[in-house]
Amino acid sequence: MIDLARALRKDISRRSFIKYSATLAAMLGLSDAFVPKIAAAVEGMANGKQPVIWLHGAECTGCTVSFANSHHPGVAELVLDTLSLQYHETLMAASGHVAEKALEEAMTRFKGKYILVVEGAIPVKDDGIYCRIGGKTFKSKVEEAATNAAYVVAVGTCASFGGIPAADPNPTQCKGVADVIGGTVVNIPGCPAHPDWIVGTIVSILLFNKVPELDKHGRPMPFFGKQIHENCPRRGGYEQGRFIKKFGEELPNIEGCMGAKGCRGPITYADCPHRLWNAGTNFCIAASAPCAGCVEPSFPKLPLYEPIEEVAKFIEESEASQDQGSISTFAASLGGAVAGAAAGAGAVYFAGEKAREKEGVE
Ligand code: SF4
Ligand code: SF4
Repeated sequence: MIDLARALRKDISRRSFIKYSATLAAMLGLSDAFVPKIAAAVEGMANGKQPVIWLHGAECTGCTVSFANSHHPGVAELVLDTLSLQYHETLMAASGHVAEKALEEAMTRFKGKYILVVEGAIPVKDDGIYCRIGGKTFKSKVEEAATNAAYVVAVGTCASFGGIPAADPNPTQCKGVADVIGGTVVNIPGCPAHPDWIVGTIVSILLFNKVPELDKHGRPMPFFGKQIHENCPRRGGYEQGRFIKKFGEELPNIEGCMGAKGCRGPITYADCPHRLWNAGTNFCIAASAPCAGCVEPSFPKLPLYEPIEEVAKFIEESEASQDQGSISTFAASLGGAVAGAAAGAGAVYFAGEKAREKEGVE
């Protein structure tokens, strides 16, 4: 087992560890009073007090990579080093029979107490023979491990809803965890899942000893309660009917909407516009790529770069309106939630215009 004190000294100062705990409190919508409890929860994980068993199925391991690339690497390593003590196929030092024995022992020793994290979809065709680990099917491994888990957490869109392994025509009949084992599964989708979503959800479970509030797709509301489109920095472009028609295009005086390039922001729920990725650097739409809806059960839906039905209709109406010499808003075509964001979108547009004026951009 790792020495927490030594790890803290080596990788992360006590001060930044507490700061990280405060960030976790904020992301969960909790007051500063919870900071010491959150710090204790993370330390508890790192000290092996909270056993976690992490299984990998049909996937690319991208969610583990995303987690390990958390912008607080000291904390991620701290937690992952310890998780590997129980079972984590990618990160544990053991392999072969020794690794499988470690899993059996962990499931027996921590019966009813461990958090089971599943990364990857479960192939179910022919009783799951298309994904086997240590001679057992992944399907049977997950079913067995879930039987005695305190909580089951599906990390990434593959484990949550099937994701890319389940894309049409899905020859191995991959499914998400909840569709195979039933019961309550906390889904943390994303391709990959954001490291904050993973750490925040596990800490929330440890703090309150129950799963956080979930939406209809089993996703924690603190991270998946907001529509991308409603919070999009390009929403002004949408309202003005100004669409990017080819990648790399820049429109005068406005950040053009990516809707014509297949953006799925209007049907996607995640906090990417606020949380951002890569240590708060950016997110897909702001980096001039359409949202692919990677956190939704429908992901991946092809063709990726064709406008979705709702937006195609809006674009058509918008262009017809502009042909007639008037520009109006069609927010109602995407439902009430969208209409409420129109004022904010205007603010984004005008803020962008002001910034350009200041910089002397035409
Ligand atoms: S369609 Fe996409 S780019 Fe356009 S405003 Fe909505 S979320 Fe933003
Ligand atoms: S913006 Fe869309 S595609 Fe990009 S990470 Fe967020 S949900 Fe996934």
